[in-house]
Amino acid sequence: MVVITLTAALCSYYVWHWWRADSMGNRDGKAAFPWMPIGVVLLIGAVADTPERRVRTMERDTSVAMSRLLGQPVTYECGNLWSLFFDRHGHMARGYVMWTEHGPDTVAQLRRDSCQGLAEFFKQRQKGLPDNPRPMVEALHVVSHEARHLAGEHREDKAECQAVQRNFEVAEALGASRDVARSIALFYWNEQYPHQSQTYFSPECRSGGALDEKISTAPWRL
Ligand SMILES: [Zn+2]
Repeated sequence: MVVITLTAALCSYYVWHWWRADSMGNRDGKAAFPWMPIGVVLLIGAVADTPERRVRTMERDTSVAMSRLLGQPVTYECGNLWSLFFDRHGHMARGYVMWTEHGPDTVAQLRRDSCQGLAEFFKQRQKGLPDNPRPMVEALHVVSHEARHLAGEHREDKAECQAVQRNFEVAEALGASRDVARSIALFYWNEQYPHQSQTYFSPECRSGGALDEKISTAPWRL
């Protein structure tokens, strides 16, 4: 958006420079610099740029916190509106990490609606769950789930169960209060995990199950 705005402003300047004419139509005469239209273009650009800047800040904060938590440099990127329609990886998941024969990429792509939920998380993280907590909880869980792929787990049901057991610490790492982090972990475990598809759900993901990592942040220990 910054580039578009500056380009528009620059184009306006050159158009003015090329076509400048005084009130008598004399192109060699002096014409007032069109401050007004350029000012309007810059103002529109600045206002439109604010949400985009917020997304960039959110991406950076998430990447920094998750790199610290995982002990390895990782990047989280938000998809834009186009990525909803033209997913370049042909994959419409809420988030994904590319894999090659060498293992996982260091970048987690988040679909646009996941980032909208994440923005709500950043707004509510010290206050509490909103009336409809689902988008915010799902988004936090997507960050947590993709982190398991970034850490090297390829299987979806295992990555999902590892994420379920770490939603609490991921929420705290991203600045949530203890209460909010706990509410998120429990909401996902009670309301969303049981409805997951077979690819993601495992009956062994429970207290004492084969996928129980016996860590204190598992929802069945909170
Ligand atoms: Zn996955």
